[in-house]
Amino acid sequence: MSELEELRSRVRTFLSAELASGAFTPHCDSWLIGYDPEFSRRLGAAHLIGLMLPIEFGGMGGGPGHRLVVSEELLSAGAPVAAHWFAERQFAPSVLRHGTVAQQHEWIPKVIAGEVCIAIGLSEPDAGSDLASVRTKAEQVDGGWLISGTKVWTSSAHHADAMVVLARTSGQRHVGLSQFIVPLPNPNVDISPIRLISGEHHFNQVTFDETFVADSDILGEIGNGWAQAMHELAAERAGPERYLSTFPLLEALLRDLPSDSRSADDIGRVIADITTFRTINHKVVELLAAGDTSASEIAILKGIATAFEQETVGIALNIANEPGNPTLVSPAAMSLLREAQYQAPGFTIRGGTNEVLRGIVSKGLLK
Ligand SMILES: Cc1cc2nc3c(=O)[nH]c(=O)nc-3n(C[C@H](O)[C@H](O)[C@H](O)COP(=O)(O)OP(=O)(O)OC[C@H]3O[C@@H](n4cnc5c(N)ncnc54)[C@H](O)[C@@H]3O)c2cc1C
Repeated sequence: MSELEELRSRVRTFLSAELASGAFTPHCDSWLIGYDPEFSRRLGAAHLIGLMLPIEFGGMGGGPGHRLVVSEELLSAGAPVAAHWFAERQFAPSVLRHGTVAQQHEWIPKVIAGEVCIAIGLSEPDAGSDLASVRTKAEQVDGGWLISGTKVWTSSAHHADAMVVLARTSGQRHVGLSQFIVPLPNPNVDISPIRLISGEHHFNQVTFDETFVADSDILGEIGNGWAQAMHELAAERAGPERYLSTFPLLEALLRDLPSDSRSADDIGRVIADITTFRTINHKVVELLAAGDTSASEIAILKGIATAFEQETVGIALNIANEPGNPTLVSPAAMSLLREAQYQAPGFTIRGGTNEVLRGIVSKGLLK
């Protein structure tokens, strides 16, 4: 058995034991809505977080393939990984690349142990796709900075131990942006829920009112925030969470489906698409690990894969509505279907909308 196959088998054993003990129920979009800090800690204790992070901090020091194998297994099982997902996917690599030695020792071991939840503070009421118009500002004072402004759609801020905030320290547009690690909760940070149509609370509006951040909490260099944020966004866009968010639903439906289902063609196409996305994804994570964050391939993968995820919800609905199926489809599959329907509109928006991604691809072609 190859090293990656052994790793895959280890994750499956871990997940089987968790499922058998009733520790979690599979969810669609579990990397965003499956918040379970205890699960994250158990995963950390099993050395299944931080596969690419250095051994000196408790990581495995592996390559992109190691991280991909673990991510694929966790997502396709619908495991509740939201408590540590952003921390491991983009925060720890950014602290490793740009952070001070003190920041690396403070944060990275905790990320690897599954002990920290990090929120990402990029979007603002008037700066989503056009991130360069960020208006949250940071003014230098004795020993640190005062941050004022509002971030919006901030996933998990109400659970987070810290939020990485992109703020303007000088200049205009892409120039003069900087990143700060703001510890939470904080008396000068107001976190208000933005509820989904289902009433659930996953993201927030976060307001900073002259919030003091010490110089020691600057992430990277003052003025280098745009480049740092783009690197993080590339990591955010490039993973299997862009085509596996609805996999638990598909799996549950397939389990219930009769072998002569008239949806067999659709199912075959879905499986072929997932296989294609996996192939592209393996290539894309290699590009990213080699430092190529501008790659059009990342934008292409996120664009077509998230459109596919939305399409699978429609296919799942057709399957559930096949004559005879409403009685065959299990309550668990129906619950996953409802969940996927609520989450699906966000698939092609979060991390950059598909229109914006098409712009990136066109610019790449013109280079
Ligand atoms: C589930 C979810 C979780 C999220 N979590 C976070 C988070 O944790 N942290 C965070 O910072 N943000 C988060 N976001 C915000 C997300 O990144 C933004 O919603 C997204 O970047 C779009 O920005 P906007 O909402 O301001 O829309 P706008 O930028 O106002 O776009 C509105 C519409 O105009 C189109 N448009 C805009 N510019 C162009 C252009 N140049 N060319 C063509 N069309 C264009 C867009 O495609 C879109 O259809 C989250 C969003 C969702 C849905």
